Amino acid sequence: SLRLAQMTGWVSFTLMGLYANLGEVEDGMRTLTPEQALRDAPGAKEMDRAEGRITLEGVGFAYGRRSGGIEHIDLDIAAGEKVGIVGASGAGKSTLVSVLLRLYDVEAGRVLIDGQDIRDVTQESLRRQIGMVTQETAMFNRSALDNIAYGRPGADLSEIEDAARQAEAHDFILGLEDHMGREGYEAHLGERGVKLSGGQRQRIALARAILKDAPILILDEATSALDSEVEAQIQDAFRQIMAGKTVLAIAHRLSTLIEMDRIIVMEAGHIVEQGTHDELLAQGGLYARYWERQSGGFIGVQDAAE
Ligand code: ADP
Ligand code: MG
Repeated sequence: SLRLAQMTGWVSFTLMGLYANLGEVEDGMRTLTPEQALRDAPGAKEMDRAEGRITLEGVGFAYGRRSGGIEHIDLDIAAGEKVGIVGASGAGKSTLVSVLLRLYDVEAGRVLIDGQDIRDVTQESLRRQIGMVTQETAMFNRSALDNIAYGRPGADLSEIEDAARQAEAHDFILGLEDHMGREGYEAHLGERGVKLSGGQRQRIALARAILKDAPILILDEATSALDSEVEAQIQDAFRQIMAGKTVLAIAHRLSTLIEMDRIIVMEAGHIVEQGTHDELLAQGGLYARYWERQSGGFIGVQDAAE
């Protein structure tokens, strides 16, 4: 019966992992259930640790006949390149990163990592290549420790604490206590555990990504729930985890993307402009208008109505 208990534990942890994986790309209204998860192709290969080159060739995906998605996306991102993505809400930014994680199979074109079609590799090995911090990361009903360790099963305590320190999460974790009286890293999070603020969840997600140390990093509004003081504190952490990685960063606060190698501007499912911050300003197009109009360099919800 010990074996059985261990197995049950393992199965539920795996399931939670699956939920958490999918939950990580949960974006407000979008929530996938495991039944909707795609299957590996027969004979799918294990992807080795990627260099991190990302190629989208004529990629199209629509959620339904009458709803949005992305269309005709051609994009070649070099290994190690840092790319910012901006655009009004609903422009297709999160959809673009979703097809990269293969949460959805593209309906047109293909997505390649290091030249390999992501449909030809196991999803487990694909997701190992990608670290992700989003505006709403799911926490599962386990300890704070497990929630971070999920980024790299098998990590030891000091590695987990280091990641938490870098993400400015260590101190608030030490102060946690759940309703069962478990404290600090042992306190349980999730629906039935300690309720974390949005900013605390983002810092746990960041710690998870730091620990995971994947070659590709996706930041989808990764700092949206942080107050500016905490955001300033973890700027260094962001700089550190971005180093040497391919980065796709979606941000409403344009000022956070100035130093990116390239900024992509999306509108209605298309890439409409791209270049460095300076090039885009000189072009005088949509990006320049966003920059000028939002005095704080922030694309607000009002732009969704455009
Ligand atoms: P962004 O991240 O730029 O705000 P999204 O990629 O989330 O935009 O959405 C792009 C378009 O696809 C929008 O029109 C949005 O309404 C639609 N969309 C996003 N997710 C879903 C979904 N799960 N079902 C139907 N439509 C969706
Ligand atoms: Mg989005």
